[in-house]
Amino acid sequence: MVNKLNVQEVKPQRTCQTKKTRYSAYKLELREDFNNRCGYCDDEDYHAGGKSGYQIDHFKPKSIPRFEVLEHDYSNLVYSCPYCNRAKWNKWKDSNGFIDPCSTEYKQHLCRDKHGKICHTTKQGKYIFTELNLGLKRHEILWIIRKIEVQKCELEVRIQMLKKGHAGRLKALEQFLEIQNLVDKYTRSFRDSI
Ligand SMILES: [Zn+2]
Repeated sequence: MVNKLNVQEVKPQRTCQTKKTRYSAYKLELREDFNNRCGYCDDEDYHAGGKSGYQIDHFKPKSIPRFEVLEHDYSNLVYSCPYCNRAKWNKWKDSNGFIDPCSTEYKQHLCRDKHGKICHTTKQGKYIFTELNLGLKRHEILWIIRKIEVQKCELEVRIQMLKKGHAGRLKALEQFLEIQNLVDKYTRSFRDSI
């Protein structure tokens, strides 16, 4: 598929082997295993208050009696932003419903276009996209912010390399960095408002 990216930049993996009696005690481990990102939309947690702002989702809802047994089971927990967790709530379908974000299947149904917008590629993907409200503008903007930050770091390295004897190119790069800083300032203003 051309120009389509994975929603998850780094695949989350549940590595915690410790058994705990309360699911809430797993937050640090979940944060690490999910790379500080929401399992569903991939937003980084610092945009929503970090660890304290992020929540623990029960993939198979604990409110459904037959899943009560999974309430404190690490394999059923997902580090989630408040937007996805609230949208998912206690929804469940036994087939063609949600897909565990740690499953390799996740990327077969959802992707991201080159501008950061989350898209669905299958009927099941459309269900997940709709139920989790993955079309929220904030998911797109936060992806752009991440890209700009990466680009800025690369540019700073390049400027250091060009400092001797490449005045023209250096000037151009400095101007570009200046523009990036302005864009950064603009997008950062969204952090607390979205
Ligand atoms: Zn999310």
